[in-house]
Amino acid sequence: MKIGVLALQGAFIEHIRMFESLGVQTVEIRKLADFTEDLDGIVFPGGESTVMGKLLHELELMEPVKQALQKGLPAFGTCAGLILMAKKFVDSKFLHFQVLDVVVRRHGFGRQLGSFSAEHEFVGIGTYPMVFIRGPYITEVGQGVEVLAKIDDKIVAVRQGNLLGAAFHPELTDDTRVHEYFLKMVEEALR
Ligand code: GLN
Repeated sequence: MKIGVLALQGAFIEHIRMFESLGVQTVEIRKLADFTEDLDGIVFPGGESTVMGKLLHELELMEPVKQALQKGLPAFGTCAGLILMAKKFVDSKFLHFQVLDVVVRRHGFGRQLGSFSAEHEFVGIGTYPMVFIRGPYITEVGQGVEVLAKIDDKIVAVRQGNLLGAAFHPELTDDTRVHEYFLKMVEEALR
């Protein structure tokens, strides 16, 4: 199994370390030539979604990655990575891959005071330490989107087919269970 990690900006190293600790091979996606057909899944890290979106266009990665996602390439987006996958926003005009049928409030927890950590339930995993850094949350999901975690009425993790999105940063903890959840999705897709 080989997982591509978008490595243009943001917290990609932490994802790579997480997969390494699970014995999974990763490839840094920095340019079009890195995005090869033998990838079994792709990760979009946290960071700044508008900057990543701009770089994806400049590097001509936006369309090929979007097409691969539409064809079913398993993907895991955290925070800005979730924003990259979302179809609609309450508070942003920037659209990226537009594959995940959710409405996102991009500056959901505020720009300044939006960073905190809390234990919450994640469906299929149990209680999980969720680290938020000026993160978004999801206000609405379409049919076919499973809600995996919520804080009050704010949706913070979802799955739609081969796509997994989290508003928080599992890569910034030493708890590998959300990454393992994604690896199970990749295994299922390979069958
Ligand atoms: N607010 C950021 C964005 O719009 C996401 C923050 C994060 O990834 N920690 O990209």
